[in-house]
Amino acid sequence: MPIYEYACHGCGQEFEALVRADTVPECPTCHSTELEKRLSVFATAGAPTEAEPAGVGACGSCGHPGGPGACGWS
Ligand SMILES: [Zn+2]
Repeated sequence: MPIYEYACHGCGQEFEALVRADTVPECPTCHSTELEKRLSVFATAGAPTEAEPAGVGACGSCGHPGGPGACGWS
């Protein structure tokens, strides 16, 4: 279950929010929904990591003729 870290554009508040698909996070300070998603972490340590580690040449940067992501399909 993902927890996202946001920064509020309205007041600059940074906070973490557990976001479901049908909910819109809002700033706990000013209740703005103008948020910048900073990063995501996972609530359960040791859970499978969905995102590639930064710096790894994953699909999208390999120049595969099939287009971005083509090399990652298996
Ligand atoms: Zn705010």
